[in-house]
This record gives sequence, C-alpha cells and structure tokens, in this order.
Amino acid sequence: MARALIIGCGAVATVAIKKCCTASEVFSEICIASRHRENCEKLAQELRPNTKTVITTAAVDADKAENVVKLIKEYKPDLVMNIALPYQDLAIMDACLECGVNYMDTANYEPENIDDPEWRKVYDKRCKEQGFSAYFDYSWQWAYKEKFEKAGLTALLGSGFDPGVSQAYCAYALKHQFDTIEEIDILDCNGGDHGYKFATNFNPEINLREVSAPGSYWDTDENGKGHWVEIPAMSIKRVYDFDQVGQKDMYLLHHEEIESLAQNIPGVKRIRFFMTFGQSYLDHMRCLEDVGMLSTQPIKFQGQEIVPIQFLKALLPDPASLGPRTVGKTNIGCIFKGTKDGKPKTYYLYNVCDHQECYKELGSQAIAYTTGVPAMCGAMMVLTGKWNKPGVHTVEEFDPDPFMEALTKYGLPWKENFNPVLVD
Ligand code: NDP
Repeated sequence: MARALIIGCGAVATVAIKKCCTASEVFSEICIASRHRENCEKLAQELRPNTKTVITTAAVDADKAENVVKLIKEYKPDLVMNIALPYQDLAIMDACLECGVNYMDTANYEPENIDDPEWRKVYDKRCKEQGFSAYFDYSWQWAYKEKFEKAGLTALLGSGFDPGVSQAYCAYALKHQFDTIEEIDILDCNGGDHGYKFATNFNPEINLREVSAPGSYWDTDENGKGHWVEIPAMSIKRVYDFDQVGQKDMYLLHHEEIESLAQNIPGVKRIRFFMTFGQSYLDHMRCLEDVGMLSTQPIKFQGQEIVPIQFLKALLPDPASLGPRTVGKTNIGCIFKGTKDGKPKTYYLYNVCDHQECYKELGSQAIAYTTGVPAMCGAMMVLTGKWNKPGVHTVEEFDPDPFMEALTKYGLPWKENFNPVLVD
C-alpha cells in the first residue's frame, strides 16, 4: 500500500499510470501532475471507474524545485515518479531530497537550453575528458549520490526500456548466464509503421536530439583501458534480421546506459548501441537539421521568440496519437559475448512487442508501452522495498529477477537465443 506522485501525463506516463491502476495493491493512491492539469484529470476520469487506486490530480511546473516541494508537502508521496522530460530531472531530485522522498525517472538529465553558458562550461570539460559529445550524460545525476545516501533515499535512474530493461538484461545475463561478459550489443528495433512520412515515437524534441547527435561506443585498448570512440552521426550501419520483424538497417548511436554499464559490468570490453531507422526518417531528419529546424536556440519570428525544435514539435503528430495507426512489432534486447565455465559463450535476451496488441490493451503504441511498463515495474520495486538502496543507482545495480518477473506479469516477457547471429 503506497502513494506515488507521478509527474508527467504524456505518452509514456499514460501507460505507466494505466498499469499502476492494475496493481492497486501496491499503488493504492496516485497523484498525476503536469503543467496542464486538465490532461491529467481527463486520464483520471477515464481510469477511476475501473480501478481501486485512488487517483488525484494536480498542476505543477516541475522546472522549479520549489513547485515540486510544495506539491510533495501537500500530497506526501512515498515515491516521486518523474515521467515528464529529462529537463526536469534535477529540479525533481532536489525536491525529493528536500522532502525526504524516493525518486525515479526514465531518462537522464539534459538541459533544455544547451547554450546556457554555465552548463556549457561543464559540458565542454566533459567532452574533452570523456570523449563523447552527447548533450546528456549521468554526471549531473551521479553528483547527487552522496546526498541521497546521507538522506537514506533511493534514486532509481532510467527505468524505461533502453535505458532500463536493457540494463536489467545485462544484470540477468551476468547473474545467470556468464562468468564474464566481454561484449554487449544493445539492439533497438522498431519494425512499426504509422503511415506518416515523418513522425517520432516519443517526445520529438528528445528523440531528434538523441538521433542527430554523433554516435559513440565503449571500447578497450590493448592495455585494457576502456574509452569512448566517437563517430559522425549515422556513420556505422549494419543490417540485422530481427526475430518476428525481419531484416532492418540499424545505426550505431550514443546511448546513456553505455556509460553506466561500462562502470558496472566488471571486465566488459566493448558496449555498442544500435537503433533501426527507415530511409524516409533519416532523409527528413537530415533535411530538418540542415535548415535549422532541430535547433534549440530561440529565434525572433514576427516579433515573437520561438525555439525551432519546439515549433517543429507542434507541427509533428503527437506521439500519443500514433497508437491506432501503428502496425508491426518492436524487438529490443542485448546480445552478449563472454565466458561460462571457462568456455566462450554468446547469448541474446530480447522482448518482442506488437504495436496493435498494445493499442488494444491500453490505447498506446509499443514505444510508449515498452517504456511505461518498466517505469511502473521499477516504481513497484522501490515501493515494495525490493530495490531499496540509498544513493543514486541505475537499473543494472539491482537484482534483476523480481523486476524481470514483474515485466513478464505486466506485459513484457523476454525471449532467449543461445546461438544468436552476432553483429560484426
Ligand atoms: P511526452 O512529451 O509525451 O510527455 C511529457 C509529459 O511531461 C507531458 O505530460 C507534459 O505535460 C509533462 N511536462 C513537460 N514539462 C513539464 C514541466 N515543466 N512540469 C511538469 N510536467 C511537464 O513525452 P514521452 O511520454 O514521450 O516521454 C516521457 C519521458 O520518457 C521522457 O523523459 C523521455 O525521454 C523518456 N523515454 C524513455 C525511454 C526509455 O526507454 N528509457 C523511451 C522513450 C521515452 P504538460 O505539458 O502538461 O506539463
């Protein structure tokens, strides 16, 4: 019996909230909050007749910690589930610390304004020291480790699919299948078709920033020293035949869980992340980037200040509206290479999710589903005490077994392949 404050009511949060309402024995009370309370209330009204979970709603602008503090003090939750945007991570973590409440999110911090000189100073230093230039990284949230430890609070970072389940798969492989893991390839395939020439499956701003950034992967030199290798965006392409989806082009991207896995999987030598994209998506993205539409720098237009990528977001289909028209499947998982009992071993752990089945069950497409279910399951782990560890932690730092059991129960069962085709 616990009380969760859920910040965000978008595509991913909607799935998480609907799933919380099917587990009222844990989520006995939830408060849904975002800047537009009417959206939260609309969802609450849809859910109230069919759940024992007591649902309230609130308006909050989580860009400012003091607003979140006020709401936490009024609602007194056991956990704050941040399923808004990565821009709010630090403000919500500050509020949780001030009020003594556990925290979780689905994506690591990045600033809304990447031209902020204060942020830029830290960013430039990190690029030089670490060797990757993505706008997001864990350093900002890892800086809260000691504060959360001292306060006896748990902060669970990145409990979506990837990051999130991808790291639970790594922890599971290490616990049950390998003595050592040397190589990890995380493969994220969306074989879904929504019929639009161009649309993003989750928040367009966050999605386009991620995809248009240079790619990078973790590698180890001949002296055993791990380091980042950065490459131009979309410059490493592979073709892979995915179970239940078929052959797809995939591209190497920078992804946040590589950073934590490089620290937490002992002896790992190489970690790469690949995502599938169709040619139409890539052509549109390149063109939008070339004309400046992906810029986050405000410009003056007809006397008004607008941020190009936010304007673009207003033009693109709302990811939450893609559900009814998306057909096909996602296939997301990890291929491992390592040793067991002194012998070389390979192993592939993955989930296949059908867009239309997700839509029939919850009214959402599979990208929101595959992120929202792990968000709810991660919250459940914290609330039931299975994943309580004061400090700031990523998913692979916890016991994967109860989480993977919950994923299966709530809609994301896993599959195994003991002889997978490897990615060269
Ligand atoms: P949406 O844009 O659909 O929803 C964002 C929600 O956040 C909205 O409800 C919005 O409501 C709310 N929000 C935005 N700004 C604020 C604010 N200042 N204060 C309070 N609420 C705010 O995003 P998605 O649902 O697609 O994505 C949610 C998160 O999931 C993102 O962080 C994304 O990066 C992450 N994600 C993670 C994945 C993973 O596998 N780990 C995969 C996909 C997404 P309002 O406008 O009313 O404030």
